[in-house]
This record gives sequence, C-alpha cells and structure tokens, in this order.
Amino acid sequence: MDLLVVGSGFFGLTIAERAANAGRKVTVIDRRHHIGGNAYSENEAETGIEVHRYGAHLFHTSNATVWEYVNRFTTFTNYVHRVYSTHNDQVFALPVNLHTINQFFGKALTPDAARALIKEQAGEYDVATARNFVEKGVALVGRPLFDAFFAHYTAKQWQTEPEKLSADIISRLPVRYNYDNRYFNDTWEGLPTDGYTAWIERMADHPNIDVQLNVDFFDESQPLNKKALVGQVPIVYTGPVDRYFDYAEGELSWRTLDFEEEVLEVGDFQGTSVMNYPDADVPYTRIHEFKHFHPERKDTYPTDKTVIMREYSRFATRDDEPYYPVNSTDDRSGLLAYRELQKGEKDVHFGGRLGTYQYLDMHMAIGSALSMWRNELGGE
Ligand code: FAD
Ligand code: UDP
Repeated sequence: MDLLVVGSGFFGLTIAERAANAGRKVTVIDRRHHIGGNAYSENEAETGIEVHRYGAHLFHTSNATVWEYVNRFTTFTNYVHRVYSTHNDQVFALPVNLHTINQFFGKALTPDAARALIKEQAGEYDVATARNFVEKGVALVGRPLFDAFFAHYTAKQWQTEPEKLSADIISRLPVRYNYDNRYFNDTWEGLPTDGYTAWIERMADHPNIDVQLNVDFFDESQPLNKKALVGQVPIVYTGPVDRYFDYAEGELSWRTLDFEEEVLEVGDFQGTSVMNYPDADVPYTRIHEFKHFHPERKDTYPTDKTVIMREYSRFATRDDEPYYPVNSTDDRSGLLAYRELQKGEKDVHFGGRLGTYQYLDMHMAIGSALSMWRNELGGE
C-alpha cells in the first residue's frame, strides 16, 4: 500500500482515483457499509425511485477543472434546482427574488423600487460590514423577509444563537431583483444521469484501488487503524478532525439530521422536489420528494406512488453522524487548536467536510482534493 485513504466520500475518492491513476496502490477504508459518503443514493425498494440516503444532493459548480473532472465518470441531466417555501399557509419561491418580495408585500414593484424597499427595511445593517448571520441576513433581505423565511428555519437548522453563526451561511443563497428563481448561481448544474452510486462506483473502479468497508480507523482490533499506520504510510484522513485527536481540544459542534421517509399512495405529493418550512410551529425544516429530481425517468417511475422524506435537524452527539460543522464563534478557537495539532502528525493529510470542519459542497470537496493531490501528495 502506497497510500491509505480514510473515508470514501467525494474527497477521499478523488484522492484515491488520482493516486491510482498515477500508479500508486491505494487502500480506501470506510466505516459505513457503502462508498460515497453523504452523497450515496439507492433506489427505494417498493417504488424504484432514487433516494439520496443522507439528504438531497444537487451538483453545481462554476469551476471548469472540477466540471471536466466529474464528467469523466458521469453525464448530468439538465435538472435545474428550484426551492419553494411554505410560510403561513402560502407558498413562496426561493431564493428571495422579485416574485417573493412582491408576493410577500402584495405589491408589483419594479427591481429598483424593490431594492429601495429592502434597503429601508435593512435599517442600520449593511452587506459589506455585516459581522454575523443576522446582520448579513437583515442587510440582504430586510427584517420582515428575514423573520419570515430565515429566522425560524435557521433556529431549527442550527439551534445556535444566530449572532454566533457565520455570515457565510446566508451568503450561500443569492438574492435577486428579477424573477429568476434558480436556487444556484453556478455555470453548470445537474444530477448524475444514472445516479450518484453509479458515478461513485466508477471513481473507485481501478485495479490499484482496494476498498474495505465496515472498517473504522480507530478500531484497533482491525489492522488498518490509526495506531498501527500513522508514520508508516501516507494517510489522507476525511473523518471528523476532533475525533482524530480523541477530542483533546474539546468537541467541535456538529449538526446531524434525522430523516423520516414515507412511501405515499399518490402520484405527486407536493409538485416539486424540495419544499422548505420556515415557520416555528413545523418541527421539520424541509420535505424532499425524490421523483421530481428526475423528470426524465417518468416512464420508469410509478405514477401512483411517491417517496417523500422529512428532514429534522439536531445537535450531533459522538454516536451520531456529523453532517454540518456549526462553526460558531466558540468552535473557531477549538478548530485553530486542532490545526496546530495536525502539524505534529507525520504525513497525515486532513481533507473534506469533516476533516477540515468546513461547510463544503461536493464540487468544493472535489476541487480541494484535486489541489491536495497536486500540492501535498506529489501529483500532476
Ligand atoms: P463525506 O461524504 O462525509 O465522507 C466522509 C466519509 O468518511 C464517510 O463515508 C464516513 O463514513 C467516513 N469516515 C468517517 N470517520 C471514519 C472512520 N473513523 N473510519 C473510516 N471511515 C470514516 N453538496 C452539494 O454540492 N450539493 C448538495 O445539495 C448537498 N447537499 C447536502 C445535504 C446534506 C444533508 C449534507 C450532509 C451534505 C450535503 N452536501 C451537498 C455536501 C456533500 O455531502 C459534501 O460536500 C461531500 O459529501 C463531501 O465529501 P467528503 O468526502 O468530504 O465527506
Ligand atoms: N436558510 C433559511 N431558510 C431557508 C433556506 C435556507 O434560513 O428557507 C438558511 C439556513 O440557515 C441554511 C442556510 O440558509 O442553513 C443555507 O441554506 P442551504 O439551502 O444552502 O442549506 P443546505 O442545503 O446546505 O442544508
């Protein structure tokens, strides 16, 4: 073995694929029973509808290098993601756009008039100087829209004082003064034509890659463990950074999700793939209806059944799957302490959403793995 990769998500598999192509023998371990990390999907047994097991995953990027790379393993459909939001029994289009503003205020404002209204409602806050989630959110959309669509949704999603959350979280969502309601701004977007798992399997399909599932790096009763291998072989570690150091600098806070999946005896439950629920009296944040991700599969999907998934968010304990780094002001000092500890680990490279404690999308995880391969692991 020339390289051990801990974790078979997009970060780990990108490293493994590049290294295998360069002639290195790579072992990939994952503690789950499947590869692909949180992007893993499978067909629901009764309906055959593809379900993203760890929450809906939409691929989008403006990075030409990443787009060229991912197209080696899959083609993409022309799916364009749109999200709606049910507030006070009315449905609005997200991200906040001219339609949302006009519907919310019962007006027919022009783009400039809407801009002036939102600026007035933003009060003293300004996008350029906003220091946290609330200040940035109010600066972007004004207080009434912030309270309707962001305040309670974010309280459910993060359960953290919003003043302690990073302004970057809300910067993920565009605000538009026209009627464009695409959720993402990126140059390319789509879903893998024959599913995430087919894509992921093609990345791992190389004679130089040995994948071992149900193997936990911290389990010393199996040979591919931390104690036995650190210092013996280069390691790319994509699990949680605090877990790697046995929480020596304290636990970083993570959010996990609970998914409630149901097969319903109706052809169409909500008419769209994702409906958000920003009100405080609804316990879940959103409902996914998976058949709408693949309208091009309408001839193979059932017309009288559908699969929906309600998403609930809560703090992760050590026994839960960590999904989202909360990255509150308190966490940032802990993370710096872990970054110092990392420097003492011989030939261990920390990557991915869990290993770097960063809110990375798939294209960012793949892009940073390509950079690590070139800059730290001697790749082309
Ligand atoms: P992961 O996919 O988390 O993979 C890490 C792997 O490491 C896991 O398989 C885990 O089992 C394994 N591992 C951890 N500890 C150990 C250990 N001790 N031993 C062995 N293996 C271990 N991105 C988008 O671009 N678009 C989206 O729409 C989108 N939606 C998302 C929705 C949700 C609910 C979540 C959680 C994420 C979403 N993402 C989305 C982000 C996307 O999942 C990540 O960018 C991507 O999966 C990152 O890949 P990764 O390899 O860093 O991590
Ligand atoms: N958000 C919100 N209301 C919404 C959608 C998003 O308040 O209807 C906030 C929330 O804090 C969320 C963040 O914006 O965590 C980023 O949203 P995104 O849809 O990118 O979240 P993800 O899909 O990664 O869970």
